[in-house]
Amino acid sequence: MKERAKETAKNAGVLLAVGILYYLFYRLTDIGFKCPLYELFGILCPGCGLTRMITSLLSFDLKGALYYNAAVLILIPLLLAVGISYYYEYIKNGVRSLKRWHKAALIFSAAIMLAYGILRNAFEIGLHPSHGEMLGFLIY
Ligand SMILES: [Zn+2]
Repeated sequence: MKERAKETAKNAGVLLAVGILYYLFYRLTDIGFKCPLYELFGILCPGCGLTRMITSLLSFDLKGALYYNAAVLILIPLLLAVGISYYYEYIKNGVRSLKRWHKAALIFSAAIMLAYGILRNAFEIGLHPSHGEMLGFLIY
């Protein structure tokens, strides 16, 4: 159990460190990941605006976070609950398997993201393709 806890903490630490480095790089340079879907076709994928959403959230700008990617923002607590529950079971019992509610939550999240991806391009729900051209910034 202790080994699994160490392994999980190490992996979470690496993931967090990469996230912090990317965040600092983005804040210092204003260069972020460019969405290939947006670059090629001018449409927003369900994940577009994620970096700006997280940056807004870290600046306690909830309105900005909702504008950039409302779907991911709303799904964060659910996805965190799935991740924590999954790794808690792994650390405790050594079993890596998704429970029924994990699968249901992931399918629900995928459905929300798919719907958001379609609706955000059709209607002006927060960040919209026309805003990127109008404001002259790259969307990431
Ligand atoms: Zn995208």
